[in-house]
Amino acid sequence: PWSQFEMAPTDPIVGLNEIYNKDDFPSKVIVGVGAYRDDLGKPYVLPCVREAEQILMDKNLDMEYTGIAGEPKFVDLALKFVYGEDSVPIQENRVHGVQALSGTGGLRVFGELMAKHGHKHIYVPNPTWGNHIPIFTNSGLEVRKYRYYDAESSDLDFTNMMKDIKDIPKGSLILMHACAHNPTGMDPTMEQWKEMSETIKKQGLVPFFDCAYQGFASGDPVKDASSVRMFVEDGHLISMVQSFSKNFGLYGQRIGALSVVGADEDEAKRVVSQMKMVIRPMYSNPPRQGARIVTTILEDPRLTQDFLDQCRGMADRINLMRTLLQDKLAEAGSTKNWDHITKQIGMFAYSGLNKDQVMEMREKHHVYCTADGRISMAGVTSGNVDYIANAIHDVSK
Ligand code: PMP
Repeated sequence: PWSQFEMAPTDPIVGLNEIYNKDDFPSKVIVGVGAYRDDLGKPYVLPCVREAEQILMDKNLDMEYTGIAGEPKFVDLALKFVYGEDSVPIQENRVHGVQALSGTGGLRVFGELMAKHGHKHIYVPNPTWGNHIPIFTNSGLEVRKYRYYDAESSDLDFTNMMKDIKDIPKGSLILMHACAHNPTGMDPTMEQWKEMSETIKKQGLVPFFDCAYQGFASGDPVKDASSVRMFVEDGHLISMVQSFSKNFGLYGQRIGALSVVGADEDEAKRVVSQMKMVIRPMYSNPPRQGARIVTTILEDPRLTQDFLDQCRGMADRINLMRTLLQDKLAEAGSTKNWDHITKQIGMFAYSGLNKDQVMEMREKHHVYCTADGRISMAGVTSGNVDYIANAIHDVSK
């Protein structure tokens, strides 16, 4: 039964680890997958997460199934974390959701939900996180793009983005990155978000937010939720997927949430009941430990404060590395303009290196970033920044 199966290509982002692991060059560097590393290049578990694990261990909890929608307490805290406790629809109990298998799983459930309920396509920014395209295609939606970024100026292409949004047919789904746009690291300003909100309302579009980096853009999760909160205040009945992979460092726990703002409580609950219809035959119910960890932290004011400090610590280290990388490029003798490295926010630097330069950097310098020139700043350390800067300069001079 298997003879006609062909070997599938490796994933353009995750597959990079496999290529890197085969390289035995001693000072090889990987700045591919968006996972935070400490300044020694080691994976980092937030101390508040370790503490929560210990609290949970001491509780001797059982390992029973949770519900189809996951842990209700986690969902409640997750929604307050992004919409804000004083959000009007939260107060009116018309924001509801489910626990999701992190951002990716939430996106897939959302795609299937919308395809099942009559949507044919979804608009995503160009470029966007590579996995958005197969996730929505596999969900049964056609993926269409709106312009987002101008590679020439390494800047947001706001004028053309607005032009494209104005051409989107009424009733269409439009995906936006809530903050720290992946891969470009360029977000609209609050004035630009306002304009987008007004146009999206005028056009009668259905706004959907992918919120994978809350806390990673500015270091402050409240500030990073500003775009989402503005849309909600403007009266949009948004839907959103949240990931706790990056901000809580819970990558392998697969913890996230998918939520919807309804016109009233009943409407939001009806949508959630349909999400459960998608989830039950897909994976039945989600894992519990990640939800328990986030809940333990967010229900405790002291642990929440520790989380905020530790999350800011990660964002600060990345920003320091941005400045260092830009300085080191100048030191290496590069005369190119690298201002975008410090202008961009979140986990990535969208370097502007083309595919040939990326390949040269791999082969000649053993520095691995994705083919689109996206460098995970989270993998840059004070120990490897010189080496990376020299490699970039060498392939781009
Ligand atoms: N959306 C975006 C924009 C992302 O960058 C990522 C992670 N790279 C995700 C969703 C999903 O990540 P996860 O499934 O780990 O939550």
